[in-house]
Amino acid sequence: MTNEFGLQRNIPADVKRAVRQRCGFGCVLCAGAIFEYEHFNPPFARARRHDAAGITLLCPTCHAKKTRNLLSERRVREANAAPAALDKRYAYSDLEGTQAKPFVRLAGLLLRNCDMPLEIRGFPVLQIEAAEGAGSPYALSARFFFNARGVPSLFIRRNEWQVLADTWDVEVVGASVTIRDGPGNIALRLRFEPGEGLVVERMEMLCAGYRVSGNPDGLDIFPPGGGRHVFRGGISDNCKVGLSLN
Ligand SMILES: [Zn+2]
Repeated sequence: MTNEFGLQRNIPADVKRAVRQRCGFGCVLCAGAIFEYEHFNPPFARARRHDAAGITLLCPTCHAKKTRNLLSERRVREANAAPAALDKRYAYSDLEGTQAKPFVRLAGLLLRNCDMPLEIRGFPVLQIEAAEGAGSPYALSARFFFNARGVPSLFIRRNEWQVLADTWDVEVVGASVTIRDGPGNIALRLRFEPGEGLVVERMEMLCAGYRVSGNPDGLDIFPPGGGRHVFRGGISDNCKVGLSLN
């Protein structure tokens, strides 16, 4: 589909990334991490090219308000100039809670029925808190996810995931969140399985001296004193702590 100037709807990937980086990976009005790209200056119908400076991020709710004229163009321009995620320092969305303890799959390693799927030197990297009352869901928290330089990029706080606005790139496609440290450099890829659990498909993390490297082949852990622990498949079921590095 094109506009009257023959401009395609599809925005090139590098332009999208520039818009995401400028907006802190969230809706400029509410910092929601699920968003759409909106040509606001000029509107798409009058755009002759995809200019990152004229495109902003709006979540589906804010976007619908804009389309229904419940939001002024002035308000969108103001928000674009001072994006909500930069103010909060993160963009966020929620996870569907689970009625049973959520599973966590760390590359090749499946952790089920664990209160603390991953702990590093007593630091609860991944934690599952009990339901607050009958019928209420479990809460998953991740004091995650440091990149390969030990810089945090993503947290989960009681089923709300937050991506830090100063990360190099965050891309949400379907139920997957991919965090990159630089071009072609994946620091983390998570896939949410709503109501069930969390899959860490890739990770390159440095935490308390431990380097944790996960990819489709499995999970490799390099302790600070040297050596290597290799996990190629495996299940840890029904224990307080799933994987403890000390
Ligand atoms: Zn919004």
